[in-house]
Amino acid sequence: MKPIDLRSDTLTQPTPAMREAMANAEVGDDVFEEDPTLKKLEELAAQKTGKESALFVPSGTMGNLISILSHCQRGDEILLGDRSHIFLHEVGGIAALGGVHPRIIPNNPDGTLLLPLLEHSIRPSDIHNPPTRLICLENTHNFCQGSPLNPEYMDSVRALAAKYGLKIHLDGARLFNAAVAQDINVKDLTRQADSVMFCLSKGLSAPVGSLVCSNRDFIQRARKFRKMVGGGMRQAGHLAAAGLVALESLVERLKEDHQNTQLLAEQLASVEGIELDPAQVKTNIIFFKLKHSKIDGESFLNLLEENSIKILMTDPGVFRAVLHREINREQVETIAKTVRSILTL
Ligand SMILES: *Cc1c(COP(=O)(O)O)cnc(C)c1O
Repeated sequence: MKPIDLRSDTLTQPTPAMREAMANAEVGDDVFEEDPTLKKLEELAAQKTGKESALFVPSGTMGNLISILSHCQRGDEILLGDRSHIFLHEVGGIAALGGVHPRIIPNNPDGTLLLPLLEHSIRPSDIHNPPTRLICLENTHNFCQGSPLNPEYMDSVRALAAKYGLKIHLDGARLFNAAVAQDINVKDLTRQADSVMFCLSKGLSAPVGSLVCSNRDFIQRARKFRKMVGGGMRQAGHLAAAGLVALESLVERLKEDHQNTQLLAEQLASVEGIELDPAQVKTNIIFFKLKHSKIDGESFLNLLEENSIKILMTDPGVFRAVLHREINREQVETIAKTVRSILTL
């Protein structure tokens, strides 16, 4: 039996429509900017995010890296959350490859950064200080329960950035989850940002790929940095074809993932030994703590695995479950039942 795999929404396989589109895609050499399918995807991405231009990249990590390289000089400082993906999970690329100095600010549980803290962290020009250049936000916020940031919060950060002449980069790996969860247009979450990265390879189910969206000059710089780090691809239209299917037909269904996630959160929260507030779960990610007198984290994972359920332990006793297209409502019931029976031995 195929396991129920909640480790990540990146595990989603391409749909039959994607496989067909990939096989039949019209392609060219994208380093020569001659791939028609890729251009079509970039145009659609730019249009959806309300930006002038877009660039296809192999991964979200590369998208964030080249965005930050395109905003900053070596020695510049950027402000970002202490739970942000860029700070925690991107191999320190901005420092290693860009000489960019990260200044971290504690994330609130909902993924926001307190405005007074942000403002306090902006450096005055003084011979001792690296210049503050950029604020990075994350929406939805992966390691803050997949929380979506709302347009009002984004507007307030925009106003602060404008006051100090700073730029904003949005790590929108799950940007479409954020929009769908709030029933708003994606543009309401991107107009405040100078650059936006979003992933096709997560809940949107494409096999590979992310996009960076911004103005034309920025995308031109980003294109050069993408080449520098080895991300200039050739007949990448085969990949873009899957991305087009994702953007055209799989965005609205993210709602289903959110409904299943809410159901699972409510069911898990009612199990003795699990610490979880379902009201904090807004998209497709659940974090919970295990506080059980007899079962520790490792054995919990093993017992789940024996029952063909896989989840991630992100810290000792802390677990992350991510829902996606390949987890249906019936499987949610199975997961909840299995967890209950394991913990009420
Ligand atoms: C997954 C993720 C990324 C990176 O995407 P990859 O394609 O895995 O490199 C960046 N930011 C956030 C918030 C993510 O969840």
